Amino acid sequence: MNYFITGTDTDVGKTIVTYVLGLLLQEQGHNVGVMKPVQCAGEDAEFLVNALNIKDAFHNVNPFYTEEPLSPHLAFHRAKKTINISQILKSYQILSECHDLMLVEGAGGLMVPLKKNYLVADLIRDLDLDVIVVSRLGLGAINHALLTIRQAQDYGLNVKGVVFSEANNCKKGLAESNNPEAIEEYGGVPVLGKVPFMKNLSRTQVIQKCKDKINVRALLKKPSQQKTKQLVKDDQQYVWHPFTQMKDWMNDEPLIIEKGQGSYLIDTEGRRYLDGVSSLWVNVHGHHHRDIDHAVKSQVNHLAHSTLLGLSNPPAIELAKELVKITPKGLDKVFYSDSGSTAVEIALKLAYQYWQNIGQPKKINIVHLANSYHGDTLGSVSVGGIDLFHKVYRHLRFQTIKLDFPDCYRNQDVDQALDNLEQLFQQRHTEIAAFVVEPIVQGAAGMIMWPKGVLKRMADVCRKYDVLFITDEVATGFGRTGSMFACEHEDVQPDFLCLAKGITGGYLPLAATLTTKRVFDGFLFNYKDLKTFFHGHTYTGNPLACAAALANLKIFKKERTLTKLAPKIKYLDKSLKMFYNLPHVGDVRQRGFMVGIELVQNKSSKTPYPYEWQMGAKVCQKVRERGVILRPLGNVIVLMPPLSISKEELKELLDVTYWALELITGE
Ligand SMILES: *Cc1c(COP(=O)(O)O)cnc(C)c1O
Repeated sequence: MNYFITGTDTDVGKTIVTYVLGLLLQEQGHNVGVMKPVQCAGEDAEFLVNALNIKDAFHNVNPFYTEEPLSPHLAFHRAKKTINISQILKSYQILSECHDLMLVEGAGGLMVPLKKNYLVADLIRDLDLDVIVVSRLGLGAINHALLTIRQAQDYGLNVKGVVFSEANNCKKGLAESNNPEAIEEYGGVPVLGKVPFMKNLSRTQVIQKCKDKINVRALLKKPSQQKTKQLVKDDQQYVWHPFTQMKDWMNDEPLIIEKGQGSYLIDTEGRRYLDGVSSLWVNVHGHHHRDIDHAVKSQVNHLAHSTLLGLSNPPAIELAKELVKITPKGLDKVFYSDSGSTAVEIALKLAYQYWQNIGQPKKINIVHLANSYHGDTLGSVSVGGIDLFHKVYRHLRFQTIKLDFPDCYRNQDVDQALDNLEQLFQQRHTEIAAFVVEPIVQGAAGMIMWPKGVLKRMADVCRKYDVLFITDEVATGFGRTGSMFACEHEDVQPDFLCLAKGITGGYLPLAATLTTKRVFDGFLFNYKDLKTFFHGHTYTGNPLACAAALANLKIFKKERTLTKLAPKIKYLDKSLKMFYNLPHVGDVRQRGFMVGIELVQNKSSKTPYPYEWQMGAKVCQKVRERGVILRPLGNVIVLMPPLSISKEELKELLDVTYWALELITGE
């Protein structure tokens, strides 16, 4: 129940309103704190501290002050000072711990720049505060108040209500008397009251004049737990969750996530959780990222969807061009779809049809690895090799050639497996269309990681025997292994590259299958030859998703994401070593920001815990108590935070994971 008080303009009476709200709340017995993070000239902060009899350290109440009455970005620049946002957040943290209600007064209005690329609205968002809008009364007030309300909402801020101030205006015409009603109606937010013009600002006078005019009780309402209860009930009644034993789910208390912010997810009760698996491996630059938010919103203003069947759209075109630019050489054409599974299926179908089209109809087999995962639709399940997920559908799968491959923990004979691959190709390449792999990291199998050189050798063998090489970078793409794509580590240029998950920064479902000119040209025939690629999903090339993806790519450059990732990967590597101290941690695997910690019942024999003990799930349940979200793969604990995570947050993630592992495996 902390609030940010902003005005529809400068000088509308924010400070007086803050004072009045503070007084009335104090009157009701609340321990109210105030803050004026940034002030350019004037004595607002001093006034508030004195009038409300506040005892906090003044440098926390007003951490940034400068003397010229200008917009902060300009005033501070001219004074050769900078506004340090993290210092504001720290001061706020300190103050809010000492008070049960905080009133934070802004500088000017919402869209006032505090520094480069940072507005007052950004500060409100970072402070995670609800907004109280202060408006004057009179002609023009409706427009200004509605502009502020809409803009705040557009920024994802919650507007608690509007308070009118008569501070500089004593006129009482028709406009003034109609303002509150009009703003409630057109703004859709409550009017909390009106602060009358007062000459005498003494405590008793103000309380007497304002106490019936302002609804401060509205500010004290806690977010209702009722709402959460209803959602939980409805979820359990209506929603069937993926990869979930619903019998367990319905006996459990589901966590309902309502907001995201940076590395954190926030539930319906306002509790914050570190997103340790990037919301199932998709988030890249953090939740609620300004640039992606903006890109999607701007695109909505133009066009939400139009089809790629027979038409095109700018974001889909621009994204295709960018993807070709950043992916390994030779990948020149982009085919869109909506999920990792479809990205892989499209590659499989393209590879298969390619050979048909060019007159090699015997090349019909797909080779894949035993412990691979490429998605959950039947086509991608057919090339999946994880019995736990895939065995039950065995009669529905198409014929494939499955190649055993070591997990590199219990079995390390990779050379033998590669020799087997070469032998297979040597004998049967005339009937093999393609070989599909997850390059370097086999995610869903339990974060199995290959030693250096394996991927390269696979690519070489494919080249040698003219088998099309499909790399499924749905999980590894977009920086997850430390470089933009895993193929880059070994300078591999596949015939197909499948992308999804991180492509939109974790915002919207989108996938892309990239391929070569050679494959593309294998589909260029006369219309009547029926060699067209007859495949397309209704939402293929969706403009909103493509706009999000374009913004995602831009942020990599703007924030130098991969450069900043390198030291965090080093830190992770160093910190993970201590996990071997735990008696039930058998293996710790890491490649970039992909981590698998395998729990075993017996370390020396590498005996796994029985499946039904659900050790991984227990650990992930435990970490929630300390505000961390994880999702395991059987007995493997997965850590895959957003690339944008800070070092402090990363430390927290590791500390909490270690703590939970110690507790759960020590039992
Ligand atoms: C997640 C994943 C898929 C499937 O992606 P969906 O979007 O869930 O269909 C395919 N391949 C790999 C390597 C994955 O990690």
